[in-house]
Amino acid sequence: MEFLRPASWREALEAKVAHPDATPIAGGTDVMVEINFGHRRPSTLLDLTGVPELTGWSEADGALRIGAGLPYTRLINELGDRVPGLAIASRTVGSPQIRNFGTLGGNLGSASPAGDGHPPLLASDALIEVESVHGKRLIPATEFFTGVKRNALAEDELIAAVHIAPATGPQQFSKVGTRNAMVIAVCTFAISLHPDRKQVGTGIGSAAPTPLRAQVAEEFLSAELDWEQRRPLEDSVARRFGELVAQAASPIDDVRGTAGYRRHALAVMARRTLSWVWHDHCSGRQECA
Ligand SMILES: Cc1cc2nc3c(=O)[nH]c(=O)nc-3n(C[C@H](O)[C@H](O)[C@H](O)COP(=O)(O)OP(=O)(O)OC[C@H]3O[C@@H](n4cnc5c(N)ncnc54)[C@H](O)[C@@H]3O)c2cc1C
Repeated sequence: MEFLRPASWREALEAKVAHPDATPIAGGTDVMVEINFGHRRPSTLLDLTGVPELTGWSEADGALRIGAGLPYTRLINELGDRVPGLAIASRTVGSPQIRNFGTLGGNLGSASPAGDGHPPLLASDALIEVESVHGKRLIPATEFFTGVKRNALAEDELIAAVHIAPATGPQQFSKVGTRNAMVIAVCTFAISLHPDRKQVGTGIGSAAPTPLRAQVAEEFLSAELDWEQRRPLEDSVARRFGELVAQAASPIDDVRGTAGYRRHALAVMARRTLSWVWHDHCSGRQECA
């Protein structure tokens, strides 16, 4: 196996175009599992851990740019107050050891329907920055996932960063698993309130071939919430929101749960996380991480 270790982003992009079949490796928490189990035998590994440009983050023009190689632990510690939904989701990934190595870029690279980083990106209208030697593209999170474990990357492209606006309102994330930690999600749900534009964002995970937004539910709730007076949530609104979220999913029966259970759990998580974020909005609390 050939092992490439670029020392800069430019070198990494040049290595990828010269070796389009090379498998990028960041934290290795997905790639090494696949290699160890014999599910993947890459002829070339492209180690991105020596690329300093990938491990930082910055803030400009009202948006955060989070390097694809920033480990979850740093994302949680350094950005938890600015992107609380993503931080809550990141805290549910694996164990401390996995969070020390695993990255958002790796989560996007794997594009598993169960990737915990994806729903909060959808709920906050994140953009995925990808690049090759030929140029850069910003792909909306809604267009990045193209199928089960498939994404919109061309063979000569790498994921550079995620662009996401800091929260303007409360955000939440909820995950159902067979136990509390170290578990692949049965299903997940993320919600972001955007009071500045009176809109709600959502993200559903592990309940369709790709992570997805519940658009009809978002439109319904955005119109129903009393953004100005901040009146208490009506039960009928919360129930309908839960139903619409469940309807947006297209889950399957598999070893982790049935389609019926997933729909039920999504409706419960949607109602529950809505009650949390609305309570925080009404009490003036923005940050829920
Ligand atoms: C014990 C254990 C528990 C886990 N628990 C969870 C969990 O709870 N939730 C969850 O979502 N995931 C979980 N995972 C999966 C994994 O930790 C995450 O998907 C993590 O985000 C992968 O990041 P990484 O940096 O380790 O990726 P890697 O393994 O290095 O790479 C993953 C994929 O992304 C590609 N890639 C990496 N970086 C780039 C880049 N810059 N550009 C293009 N492609 C790139 C790789 O080629 C590969 O296809 C778990 C894994 C283990 C082993």
